[in-house]
Amino acid sequence: RMSSPALLMRVVASAYSVAEKAATIVRNVMAAGDLGIVDKTGDNDLQTKADRLVQMSICASLAQKFPKVTIIGEEELSTEEVTEELIEDGHCEEILKKTCPAQYAGIKEEELVIWVDPLDGTKEYTEGLLDHVTVLIGIAYEGKAIAGVINQPYYNYEAGAGAVLGRTIWGVLGIGAFGFQLTEAPAGKHIVVTTRSHSSTLVNDCISALNPDSVIRVGGAGNKIIQLIEGKASAYVFASPGCKKWDTCAPEAILHAVGGKITDIHGNSFQYNKEVKHMNSAGVLATLRNYDYYASRIPNTVKQSLVP
Ligand code: AMP
Ligand code: MG
Ligand code: MG
Repeated sequence: RMSSPALLMRVVASAYSVAEKAATIVRNVMAAGDLGIVDKTGDNDLQTKADRLVQMSICASLAQKFPKVTIIGEEELSTEEVTEELIEDGHCEEILKKTCPAQYAGIKEEELVIWVDPLDGTKEYTEGLLDHVTVLIGIAYEGKAIAGVINQPYYNYEAGAGAVLGRTIWGVLGIGAFGFQLTEAPAGKHIVVTTRSHSSTLVNDCISALNPDSVIRVGGAGNKIIQLIEGKASAYVFASPGCKKWDTCAPEAILHAVGGKITDIHGNSFQYNKEVKHMNSAGVLATLRNYDYYASRIPNTVKQSLVP
Protein backbone atom coordinates (compact mmCIF):
# COMPACT_ATOMS: atom_id res chain seq x y z
CA ARG A 1 0.00 0.00 0.00
CA MET A 2 1.32 3.45 -0.91
CA SER A 3 1.55 5.71 2.11
CA SER A 4 1.13 9.46 1.55
CA PRO A 5 4.36 11.36 0.80
CA ALA A 6 6.44 12.60 3.73
CA LEU A 7 5.82 16.16 4.89
CA LEU A 8 9.29 17.31 3.75
CA MET A 9 8.63 16.13 0.19
CA ARG A 10 5.23 17.82 0.16
CA VAL A 11 6.79 21.08 1.35
CA VAL A 12 9.52 20.93 -1.33
CA ALA A 13 6.98 20.02 -4.03
CA SER A 14 4.82 23.00 -3.05
CA ALA A 15 7.82 25.33 -2.73
CA TYR A 16 8.73 24.41 -6.32
CA SER A 17 5.37 25.63 -7.66
CA VAL A 18 5.31 28.63 -5.31
CA ALA A 19 8.76 29.64 -6.65
CA GLU A 20 7.50 29.37 -10.24
CA LYS A 21 4.59 31.65 -9.38
CA ALA A 22 7.11 34.01 -7.77
CA ALA A 23 9.13 34.09 -10.98
CA THR A 24 6.02 35.09 -12.93
CA ILE A 25 5.46 37.97 -10.50
CA VAL A 26 9.12 39.07 -10.82
CA ARG A 27 8.79 39.16 -14.63
CA ASN A 28 5.38 40.86 -14.57
CA VAL A 29 6.53 43.69 -12.27
CA MET A 30 9.51 44.38 -14.55
CA ALA A 31 7.34 44.23 -17.66
CA ALA A 32 4.87 46.70 -16.13
CA GLY A 33 7.77 49.10 -15.67
CA ASP A 34 7.08 50.56 -12.21
CA LEU A 35 9.57 48.95 -9.78
CA GLY A 36 8.58 51.05 -6.74
CA ILE A 37 12.14 51.11 -5.35
CA VAL A 38 12.71 51.74 -1.60
CA ASP A 39 16.19 51.89 -0.02
CA LYS A 40 15.86 49.96 3.27
CA THR A 41 19.12 50.90 4.98
CA GLY A 42 20.79 53.40 2.65
CA ASP A 43 23.56 50.86 1.96
CA ASN A 44 22.57 49.60 -1.51
CA ASP A 45 19.93 47.55 0.29
CA LEU A 46 16.98 47.94 -2.05
CA GLN A 47 13.42 46.67 -2.09
CA THR A 48 11.09 46.75 -5.10
CA LYS A 49 7.42 46.03 -5.64
CA ALA A 50 8.53 42.58 -6.82
CA ASP A 51 10.31 41.86 -3.51
CA ARG A 52 7.12 42.83 -1.65
CA LEU A 53 4.59 40.98 -3.81
CA VAL A 54 6.70 37.85 -4.07
CA GLN A 55 7.27 37.66 -0.32
CA MET A 56 3.51 37.97 0.24
CA SER A 57 2.87 35.29 -2.37
CA ILE A 58 5.42 32.78 -1.06
CA CYS A 59 4.67 33.24 2.64
CA ALA A 60 0.88 33.22 2.30
CA SER A 61 0.88 30.26 -0.10
CA LEU A 62 3.10 28.10 2.10
CA ALA A 63 1.41 29.19 5.34
CA GLN A 64 -1.98 28.23 3.93
CA LYS A 65 -0.82 24.67 3.21
CA PHE A 66 1.55 24.23 6.15
CA PRO A 67 0.19 26.44 8.95
CA LYS A 68 2.51 25.17 11.71
CA VAL A 69 5.75 25.69 9.79
CA THR A 70 7.83 28.74 10.80
CA ILE A 71 8.36 30.96 7.76
CA ILE A 72 10.92 33.79 7.91
CA GLY A 73 11.06 36.19 4.96
CA GLU A 74 13.50 38.98 4.23
CA GLU A 75 11.03 41.81 3.84
CA GLU A 76 9.23 43.53 6.70
CA LEU A 77 5.73 44.12 5.37
CA SER A 78 2.72 45.70 6.96
CA THR A 79 0.13 42.99 7.53
CA GLU A 80 -1.87 43.72 4.42
CA GLU A 81 -4.56 41.40 3.15
CA VAL A 82 -2.99 39.04 0.59
CA THR A 83 -5.14 38.97 -2.53
CA GLU A 84 -6.27 35.60 -3.88
CA GLU A 85 -4.35 36.02 -7.15
CA LEU A 86 -1.07 35.89 -5.20
CA ILE A 87 -1.82 32.44 -3.75
CA GLU A 88 -0.28 29.38 -5.42
CA ASP A 89 -1.86 26.06 -4.50
CA GLY A 90 -0.01 23.71 -6.87
CA HIS A 91 2.88 21.32 -6.40
CA CYS A 92 5.45 19.45 -8.50
CA GLU A 93 4.39 15.79 -8.98
CA GLU A 94 7.90 14.68 -9.91
CA ILE A 95 9.19 15.71 -6.48
CA LEU A 96 6.45 13.75 -4.71
CA LYS A 97 7.60 10.60 -6.55
CA LYS A 98 11.04 10.74 -4.90
CA THR A 99 11.58 8.79 -1.70
CA CYS A 100 12.16 10.92 1.38
CA PRO A 101 15.47 10.07 3.10
CA ALA A 102 14.69 7.94 6.18
CA GLN A 103 16.15 10.48 8.63
CA TYR A 104 13.66 13.11 7.41
CA ALA A 105 10.58 10.91 6.94
CA GLY A 106 9.13 11.66 10.38
CA ILE A 107 9.56 15.45 10.37
CA LYS A 108 6.55 17.39 11.66
CA GLU A 109 5.40 20.83 10.50
CA GLU A 110 6.40 22.57 13.71
CA GLU A 111 9.96 21.28 13.30
CA LEU A 112 10.57 23.03 9.97
CA VAL A 113 11.82 26.58 9.39
CA ILE A 114 11.51 28.05 5.89
CA TRP A 115 13.83 30.94 4.98
CA VAL A 116 12.52 33.07 2.12
CA ASP A 117 14.43 35.55 -0.03
CA PRO A 118 11.67 36.66 -2.39
CA LEU A 119 14.14 38.31 -4.76
CA ASP A 120 17.87 37.85 -4.37
CA GLY A 121 19.95 40.29 -6.40
CA THR A 122 17.55 43.24 -6.15
CA LYS A 123 20.24 45.80 -6.98
CA GLU A 124 20.99 43.96 -10.22
CA TYR A 125 17.26 43.58 -10.98
CA THR A 126 16.91 47.36 -10.84
CA GLU A 127 19.89 47.69 -13.21
CA GLY A 128 18.62 45.22 -15.81
CA LEU A 129 21.14 42.47 -15.00
CA LEU A 130 18.19 40.13 -14.99
CA ASP A 131 19.84 36.71 -14.94
CA HIS A 132 21.54 37.58 -11.61
CA VAL A 133 18.11 37.44 -9.95
CA THR A 134 16.86 34.38 -8.07
CA VAL A 135 13.97 33.49 -5.77
CA LEU A 136 15.18 31.48 -2.75
CA ILE A 137 13.15 29.12 -0.56
CA GLY A 138 15.32 27.26 1.96
CA ILE A 139 14.05 24.56 4.31
CA ALA A 140 15.77 23.88 7.64
CA TYR A 141 15.42 21.15 10.25
CA GLU A 142 17.32 20.96 13.54
CA GLY A 143 19.21 24.12 12.54
CA LYS A 144 20.45 22.61 9.28
CA ALA A 145 19.59 23.54 5.67
CA ILE A 146 18.19 20.24 4.34
CA ALA A 147 16.24 21.25 1.22
CA GLY A 148 15.93 24.21 -1.08
CA VAL A 149 14.45 25.69 -4.22
CA ILE A 150 16.19 28.30 -6.38
CA ASN A 151 14.20 29.83 -9.22
CA GLN A 152 16.01 31.92 -11.79
CA PRO A 153 13.21 33.89 -13.50
CA TYR A 154 15.34 35.23 -16.35
CA TYR A 155 17.47 32.16 -17.11
CA ASN A 156 17.95 32.14 -20.92
CA TYR A 157 16.71 35.70 -21.39
CA GLU A 158 19.54 36.51 -23.74
CA ALA A 159 19.21 33.23 -25.66
CA GLY A 160 16.58 34.51 -28.07
CA ALA A 161 12.88 34.05 -28.63
CA GLY A 162 12.93 30.24 -29.01
CA ALA A 163 14.50 29.58 -25.59
CA VAL A 164 12.40 28.72 -22.54
CA LEU A 165 12.66 31.59 -20.07
CA GLY A 166 13.39 30.78 -16.42
CA ARG A 167 14.21 27.60 -14.53
CA THR A 168 13.72 25.99 -11.16
CA ILE A 169 16.52 24.18 -9.34
CA TRP A 170 15.67 22.10 -6.28
CA GLY A 171 17.50 19.77 -3.94
CA VAL A 172 17.22 17.68 -0.79
CA LEU A 173 20.13 16.31 1.26
CA GLY A 174 20.35 12.59 0.60
CA ILE A 175 18.44 12.81 -2.70
CA GLY A 176 20.48 15.25 -4.77
CA ALA A 177 19.76 18.40 -6.76
CA PHE A 178 17.92 18.78 -10.06
CA GLY A 179 17.01 21.29 -12.74
CA PHE A 180 20.56 22.02 -13.94
CA GLN A 181 23.61 20.17 -15.29
CA LEU A 182 26.21 19.62 -12.56
CA THR A 183 29.52 20.76 -14.09
CA GLU A 184 33.06 20.85 -12.69
CA ALA A 185 35.02 24.11 -12.83
CA PRO A 186 38.12 24.06 -15.10
CA ALA A 187 40.74 21.80 -13.47
CA GLY A 188 43.71 23.59 -11.94
CA LYS A 189 42.16 27.05 -12.30
CA HIS A 190 41.15 29.19 -9.35
CA ILE A 191 38.14 31.23 -10.35
CA VAL A 192 36.58 33.27 -7.55
CA VAL A 193 33.03 34.59 -7.72
CA THR A 194 32.09 37.45 -5.42
CA THR A 195 29.78 40.43 -4.89
CA ARG A 196 29.24 43.01 -7.59
CA SER A 197 27.48 45.73 -5.60
CA HIS A 198 28.69 45.22 -1.99
CA SER A 199 32.49 45.28 -2.30
CA SER A 200 34.85 46.66 0.33
CA THR A 201 38.58 46.83 0.95
CA LEU A 202 38.32 43.68 3.06
CA VAL A 203 36.35 41.83 0.37
CA ASN A 204 39.01 42.71 -2.22
CA ASP A 205 42.00 42.09 0.07
CA CYS A 206 40.72 38.62 0.83
CA ILE A 207 40.33 37.79 -2.86
CA SER A 208 43.81 39.13 -3.66
CA ALA A 209 45.30 36.90 -0.96
CA LEU A 210 43.84 33.86 -2.76
CA ASN A 211 45.75 34.85 -5.92
CA PRO A 212 42.98 33.66 -8.26
CA ASP A 213 43.32 33.20 -12.02
CA SER A 214 40.19 35.28 -12.46
CA VAL A 215 37.41 36.98 -10.50
CA ILE A 216 33.73 37.04 -11.50
CA ARG A 217 31.67 39.85 -9.94
CA VAL A 218 27.95 39.11 -10.07
CA GLY A 219 24.92 39.86 -7.92
CA GLY A 220 23.01 37.47 -5.70
CA ALA A 221 23.93 34.65 -3.34
CA GLY A 222 21.67 32.27 -5.27
CA ASN A 223 23.31 33.25 -8.54
CA LYS A 224 26.78 32.70 -7.12
CA ILE A 225 25.94 29.18 -5.94
CA ILE A 226 24.64 28.47 -9.48
CA GLN A 227 28.07 29.61 -10.78
CA LEU A 228 29.67 26.96 -8.54
CA ILE A 229 27.42 24.03 -9.46
CA GLU A 230 27.62 24.83 -13.17
CA GLY A 231 31.42 25.01 -13.16
CA LYS A 232 31.73 28.74 -13.93
CA ALA A 233 33.59 29.44 -10.68
CA SER A 234 35.58 27.37 -8.20
CA ALA A 235 34.92 29.40 -5.03
CA TYR A 236 32.39 31.96 -3.74
CA VAL A 237 34.32 34.28 -1.42
CA PHE A 238 32.65 37.17 0.45
CA ALA A 239 34.69 38.52 3.38
CA SER A 240 32.02 40.88 4.72
CA PRO A 241 28.85 40.94 6.74
CA GLY A 242 25.73 41.66 4.69
CA CYS A 243 24.55 38.26 3.54
CA LYS A 244 21.63 36.89 5.63
CA LYS A 245 20.22 33.47 6.49
CA TRP A 246 17.59 33.71 3.73
CA ASP A 247 20.41 34.29 1.22
CA THR A 248 22.29 31.13 2.17
CA CYS A 249 19.68 28.56 3.27
CA ALA A 250 18.36 27.36 -0.11
CA PRO A 251 21.77 27.69 -1.82
CA GLU A 252 23.41 25.76 1.03
CA ALA A 253 20.94 22.86 0.80
CA ILE A 254 21.43 22.56 -2.97
CA LEU A 255 25.23 22.89 -2.78
CA HIS A 256 25.47 20.32 0.03
CA ALA A 257 23.10 17.97 -1.82
CA VAL A 258 25.70 17.70 -4.61
CA GLY A 259 28.72 17.38 -2.30
CA GLY A 260 29.82 21.02 -1.99
CA LYS A 261 30.50 23.03 1.15
CA ILE A 262 29.51 26.48 2.43
CA THR A 263 30.63 28.11 5.70
CA ASP A 264 31.52 31.52 7.03
CA ILE A 265 35.04 32.80 6.38
CA HIS A 266 36.30 31.02 9.56
CA GLY A 267 34.90 27.66 8.47
CA ASN A 268 31.91 27.69 10.83
CA SER A 269 28.74 26.13 9.45
CA PHE A 270 25.59 28.27 9.33
CA GLN A 271 22.67 27.62 11.68
CA TYR A 272 19.07 28.02 10.53
CA ASN A 273 16.93 27.50 13.64
CA LYS A 274 14.21 30.12 14.03
CA GLU A 275 15.94 31.98 16.90
CA VAL A 276 19.23 32.46 15.03
CA LYS A 277 20.68 35.89 14.21
CA HIS A 278 19.79 36.72 10.60
CA MET A 279 23.11 38.26 9.58
CA ASN A 280 25.97 36.04 8.38
CA SER A 281 28.38 38.43 10.10
CA ALA A 282 31.53 36.51 9.26
CA GLY A 283 31.01 36.33 5.51
CA VAL A 284 30.73 33.39 3.14
CA LEU A 285 33.12 30.79 1.72
CA ALA A 286 31.64 28.16 -0.61
CA THR A 287 32.96 25.63 -3.10
CA LEU A 288 31.76 22.57 -4.99
CA ARG A 289 35.25 20.97 -4.68
CA ASN A 290 38.58 21.79 -2.99
CA TYR A 291 37.07 23.68 -0.07
CA ASP A 292 40.26 23.21 1.98
CA TYR A 293 42.43 24.88 -0.66
CA TYR A 294 40.52 28.14 -0.23
CA ALA A 295 39.84 27.85 3.52
CA SER A 296 43.54 27.38 4.26
CA ARG A 297 44.42 30.55 2.32
CA ILE A 298 42.04 33.01 4.01
CA PRO A 299 44.41 35.47 5.77
CA ASN A 300 44.23 35.69 9.57
CA THR A 301 43.92 39.47 9.29
CA VAL A 302 40.70 38.95 7.32
CA LYS A 303 39.40 36.45 9.87
CA GLN A 304 40.16 38.84 12.72
CA SER A 305 38.09 41.53 11.03
CA LEU A 306 34.99 39.33 10.81
CA VAL A 307 33.45 38.35 14.14
CA PRO A 308 30.82 35.57 13.79
P1 AMP B 1 25.71 40.30 -3.31
O1 AMP B 1 26.73 39.26 -3.54
O2 AMP B 1 26.26 41.67 -3.11
O3 AMP B 1 24.64 40.27 -4.37
O4 AMP B 1 25.02 39.93 -1.93
C1 AMP B 1 24.37 38.69 -1.73
C2 AMP B 1 23.18 38.93 -0.82
O5 AMP B 1 23.61 39.52 0.39
C3 AMP B 1 22.15 39.88 -1.41
O6 AMP B 1 20.88 39.52 -0.91
C4 AMP B 1 22.54 41.21 -0.82
O7 AMP B 1 21.45 42.08 -0.73
C5 AMP B 1 23.07 40.82 0.54
N1 AMP B 1 24.11 41.74 0.96
C6 AMP B 1 25.45 41.58 0.83
N2 AMP B 1 26.12 42.64 1.31
C7 AMP B 1 25.19 43.50 1.76
C8 AMP B 1 25.23 44.77 2.38
N3 AMP B 1 26.41 45.38 2.63
N4 AMP B 1 24.06 45.35 2.73
C9 AMP B 1 22.89 44.74 2.48
N5 AMP B 1 22.78 43.54 1.89
C10 AMP B 1 23.89 42.92 1.54
MG1 MG C 1 19.29 38.25 -1.02
MG1 MG D 1 16.11 39.78 -1.35
